[in-house]
Amino acid sequence: MSATQPVDESVRVRVPAKINLSLAVGPARPDGYHDLATVFQAVSLHDELTATWAPPGEVVVRTVGPYADRVADDEDNLACRAARLLMNRHGDGGAWGAHLLVDKGIPVAGGMAGGSADAAGALLACAALWDLDLSPADLRELGAELGADVPFPLLGGTAVGTNRGDELVPVLGRGCFHWVLALSDEGLSTPEVFARFDELDTDPDAPRVPDELLAALGTGEATELAGRLHNDLTAAACDLRPDLARTLELGTRYGALASLLSGSGPTVAFLTAGESQAMDLAHTLRGELGTDAVRRVRGPVSGAKLLQVLR
Ligand code: ATP
Repeated sequence: MSATQPVDESVRVRVPAKINLSLAVGPARPDGYHDLATVFQAVSLHDELTATWAPPGEVVVRTVGPYADRVADDEDNLACRAARLLMNRHGDGGAWGAHLLVDKGIPVAGGMAGGSADAAGALLACAALWDLDLSPADLRELGAELGADVPFPLLGGTAVGTNRGDELVPVLGRGCFHWVLALSDEGLSTPEVFARFDELDTDPDAPRVPDELLAALGTGEATELAGRLHNDLTAAACDLRPDLARTLELGTRYGALASLLSGSGPTVAFLTAGESQAMDLAHTLRGELGTDAVRRVRGPVSGAKLLQVLR
């Protein structure tokens, strides 16, 4: 590749949000992280990224879509940091550049790893744009340097995550699950939720993924899965945002099989028995919560995907 590459060359990728079907949190570690044992599921709520050739050394990002005003389009944007990491690690003497356009469908600070999804998308899009010979495992390894949640949106599907949540093993589950998501206008800071968790539980057990959850995923039955969903951060998030307790309760009152905080919140995910039950619940929740910020999604879906290469 060289700096003479046509400037209108571009690559478009789609990258999913995640929910955590189970999230077990251990004690804080000296490096500031917590040991986690989690099961991620990629769901059908996406960001789309378009990477276009730019002058050598230039990496800029522009965010559009309903959540654009909540993200800073600066050097600290995770998509920018990902593209720069790729450039620095595999760069061709500074011959490359990229303009990144992020169409954000994933809520910001919603516990659905939206920023991590953009980092994952930028890695995939720029690797394709710059024609790098990198394997999916290479990209996931680079992603883990950017953040513990970055490797999963590259992999997608359903996967167990250990260590910081970044060491992934795919789960061979069956079926398709129908979820309803109650989004929040206001985000929750992940570090604040973990700090409150440390205050509330000063001696947590070593985290593990329950065998019963993996067995439930093997059946593909939503009714089996419902009793196995768990999130250790629920009490901490509800302590910071007491309104979440009501939202969690509303779902089960109106027909969800189970209610679950997504990651560090504040998004709440409701597992339903099927598509029509999800439609009914979404409709009811819009009325009860007085907001349109309710989405139906399904999972698992695939990880970051190349949609289009324009040369
Ligand atoms: P997680 O589930 O991984 O804890 P989250 O979904 O709760 O993350 P994000 O949407 O990733 O939260 O946002 C976390 C912070 O990252 C925000 O405060 C935001 O300013 C910052 N950020 C940086 N780059 C991005 C990006 N491309 N998209 C969203 N947030 C970003």
